[in-house]
Amino acid sequence: MTGEGMTGEGMTGEGMTGEGMTGEGMTGRLPDRVVDVAVVGLGTTGAMALWQLSGVEGLDVVGVEAFGPVHLHGSYSGESRLFRMAVKEGSLYVPLLRRARELWQELEAEAGREILLPVGALSIGPVGQPELEATLATMAEHDLPSRVLDDAELAAQYPQHVPRAGDMGILDPLGGGLRPEVAVLAATEAAQARGATVVHHCRVTGLERTDDGVLVRAGDEVLRARKVVVTAGSWTSALRPDLAGLLTTRHIPLTWFLPRDPSAFRPEVFPVFMRDLDGFHAYGAPCLDGATVKVSFSTPEHDDLASVDDVPALVPEDLLAAFSEQLPHFFSGMHPFPARATSHHDTWTPDRVPVVDLDPEERVVTIAGLSGHGFKLAPAFGLLARDLVVDGGSALRPPEMALAAHLGRQAAAV
Ligand SMILES: Cc1cc2nc3c(=O)[nH]c(=O)nc-3n(C[C@H](O)[C@H](O)[C@H](O)COP(=O)(O)OP(=O)(O)OC[C@H]3O[C@@H](n4cnc5c(N)ncnc54)[C@H](O)[C@@H]3O)c2cc1C
Repeated sequence: MTGEGMTGEGMTGEGMTGEGMTGEGMTGRLPDRVVDVAVVGLGTTGAMALWQLSGVEGLDVVGVEAFGPVHLHGSYSGESRLFRMAVKEGSLYVPLLRRARELWQELEAEAGREILLPVGALSIGPVGQPELEATLATMAEHDLPSRVLDDAELAAQYPQHVPRAGDMGILDPLGGGLRPEVAVLAATEAAQARGATVVHHCRVTGLERTDDGVLVRAGDEVLRARKVVVTAGSWTSALRPDLAGLLTTRHIPLTWFLPRDPSAFRPEVFPVFMRDLDGFHAYGAPCLDGATVKVSFSTPEHDDLASVDDVPALVPEDLLAAFSEQLPHFFSGMHPFPARATSHHDTWTPDRVPVVDLDPEERVVTIAGLSGHGFKLAPAFGLLARDLVVDGGSALRPPEMALAAHLGRQAAAV
């Protein structure tokens, strides 16, 4: 078997050899032994996969990351992520989310760090809005706890928002906020504490199948692994060019605004939220720094990028101006110009269902295309990676996430 379709053309390991790095596990050099599993990319999903795999007794697991243990280049930076149990995206996610919530709490306990802020998640919109109907359907189908508020109750309990007559709110009490940077670092460190080897500042440049495993190449260096987990986020197509037709990278800006009274937005009184209004989707989290509130917007036209290298370093001024114009429709008591804005990316599949796949030879697990809503699921994806590596399958994986199912849906849509 050769590595057809699995080489990372165009990727050079230049500058990735960890010069000047000190400290254990930060040498940037691949181990010179045959390992059981190599996890390529230790961001959101890879850190969780490493953590889960490191719990399997006797398994020699190595994680390889292009940047440091926590960094600004991936899809996870930006202070907070929303966790929702009652998802509008569909019932297939709920069993995974239940498991993910338990695992977030396990990780918190193991790492001794706060990761999941149990502040609830509030969805707001006009009664009958399809997104809200879908949220209510998920709650009913899975018998999830919920609280439904009419416009008057919404205004009384959450005066920070500006509801319109006829709006409703749905509070998902199992929802909340996640601290993404803390989570990734905590999972990586927990995996190291359980015996996993971690190589930072080392960019994998190609994967090549052999008769008994996979060669993981980083420039001139080679790591021999029996199995590989590819969790390379927006760089996945460089290692799996065969997925390029399925995955699209998108630009996502984040913005933070200054409320007059930050205490009104503290986690105890202000759940994470999402709201669709006049073609803008707003979402955000409570005040975590004592001064700013994350209120971010997306428009129906997503900003597709040819490659992750095209993510703008700064959020364009015209976007910031459009967001400023929207802000007073969503919140009162907040200055309409963003105090902070950062530029991010994530990788989409056509129907936003992530890819969780094991190749037919059972050597390569790929988890990609988390489509702007995958952070909350990350530890469950780590568990799926473990199950696919160790057992060759998982009852928890929705069949829709297999690559063959994606390609089938894509072909049917043409
Ligand atoms: C602004 C923003 C807001 C979001 N909000 C939410 C939210 O509220 N709730 C939610 O659930 N989800 C949310 N998401 C989605 C979620 O954050 C992403 O889906 C998730 O972080 C993607 O994880 P990943 O593991 O695929 O990629 P990443 O976290 O980017 O990890 C990929 C890692 O692989 C490494 N890598 C890549 N190539 C190589 C290589 N060749 N060799 C070695 N290492 C490599 C990268 O350096 C990186 O560390 C949001 C996303 C964005 C961008």
